[in-house]
Formats: sequence, structure tokens, C-alpha cells
Amino acid sequence: MERIITDNHMHLYNHLRLKALKQFRNAGGTHVLLVSLISPYYGVYPKKGDDFRIIFDDHLRLVEQANEIVRAFAVLAVHPAEITILGEKLGYEKSAEIMKEALELAGKYVEEGKAVAIKSGRPHYKVSKEVWKLSNEVMEHAFIVAKEVGCAVQLHTESYSFKGMKEIAKIAKKAGIKLKKVVKHFAPPAVKEFKEIGLFPSVIAGNGNVVSAAEEGDRFLVETDYIDDKTRPGAILGPKTVPRRVKELYELGYGEVAQKICVDNVEKVYGIEIKL
Ligand SMILES: [Zn+2]
Repeated sequence: MERIITDNHMHLYNHLRLKALKQFRNAGGTHVLLVSLISPYYGVYPKKGDDFRIIFDDHLRLVEQANEIVRAFAVLAVHPAEITILGEKLGYEKSAEIMKEALELAGKYVEEGKAVAIKSGRPHYKVSKEVWKLSNEVMEHAFIVAKEVGCAVQLHTESYSFKGMKEIAKIAKKAGIKLKKVVKHFAPPAVKEFKEIGLFPSVIAGNGNVVSAAEEGDRFLVETDYIDDKTRPGAILGPKTVPRRVKELYELGYGEVAQKICVDNVEKVYGIEIKL
């Protein structure tokens, strides 16, 4: 029986590009969610939300090529760091406005069936009170857009803390989005705590995390956050990592968990069909 193995969060940038996906496939990977990167990586310096169209279209072309290697789905990101990148030139308030518009545009692409999710969040580094407040507003707007479109939101946020995630869950609830559609990217294997909070963890597949997560339950996804950056070739984890870790689950008798995290959970969170 051929197994389905899904990496929930990977990028392709300027290092291996499609070769990374060949490595993923050759290691047993079958499905991947490819996430677009921050604007400077595309040589784009957005002055309005619609300028993200160039980024999204570029990303969608890449995902189309990726589909010749594995089954690939697009996630359109308005990375929380954009507030800093754009803010230095345009002011933070204006940047937040651009980011909200870009999220609406991403939502339209999802409605057209071109992407399966949008990505938002809030900075993982220290920012001023003003930027933090604006970032939370942008994230809330992402929840509202996703709720209207009926899609999931991947979140890039500060490091995990129960309190921080509870706070995000509260913002999501207020926006009316189902918490299982809010995916915390780069999550630790705190499967039970995430279940209590309601957000859906996408566990970063290093350091024995996948097995630790499986010991706690099956309500999670797995990812490498492979960045494909020449200057950091293996970061965050290499493209073969998820296939290796999922195979390990099968070997350790966690076959049912493996099936859940690679198929059922992906289908449930994103509303897509995962099959060979
Ligand atoms: Zn990422």
C-alpha cells in the first residue's frame, strides 16, 4: 500500500526550488502545502494591497509546476513581518491597511479555487505597542476574511505559550472563524494543550517532536518550514524530514496517527481531498 505523506508548510525560494520537492517525493512525500514568502523575496515593494497580486501570481505559477512532482496546494501569505518591512517606508498604519487589503485579495484567490488557505499572524520579534496592536488587527482581519471565504488561516506568531495562544483563540472567536481552521505553524508537540485552546497545531518535525506529539494524540499536522534559502540551505528542516518522521511513526506502531495527520486532519482543516 502506498502511503500518503503530507508536509503542511514548506517554501521554495532560491536554493533547490523544485529539486527540493523531488527530494521530498523520493523520500516518500506525496502532498505539500506551499506557502508564499515575504515581499522582498519577489523583488516587490508593495504600496497598495493589490501589489501582492504579483507575489501571489508568481507563487501560483510555482505551485502549478510543483504539481508535476507531487500534489501541491497553495497558501497565500501576508507575513506579519510585512508590517516592519513596509512600515519603515510607508508608516505602520498605512502598512496595516495594505496588509488587510492583501489578505482580502488572498481570500479572493481562495474563492476562485487557486489557493486553499491564507497566512497571517503577528511578529515573532519584539515590536512597539503600536505595531503589536496593528498586527493583532491585521490578524483579526485575516480571520474575518477566512471566515467569509470558508478557508483556513495559517499563523506565524511569537513562540508558543498557552497564554499567547489563548489570546489568539479569543481574537479568532470574536471574528467568528472556527478554531480548528486556525493553524499555528511552527508548533511544539503540545497536542493536548492545543486541543484545549482550540487552535490546530502544525508541529515542526524536528527533535523527536512528531513522536512526542503522537504520544499525546492525533489532533495535529506536521511540517518542515523548509525555506529553501541559499544562505541557510537546510533551514528550518530539510525537505526529506516529514517523510522520514512519518515513516518512523508507522514503524513505532502509530500508523493510525500517521494516517490522521497526513490525510484526515488535512482534509478537515483545509476542506480539500487528499488522495493518491
Ligand atoms: Zn514558513
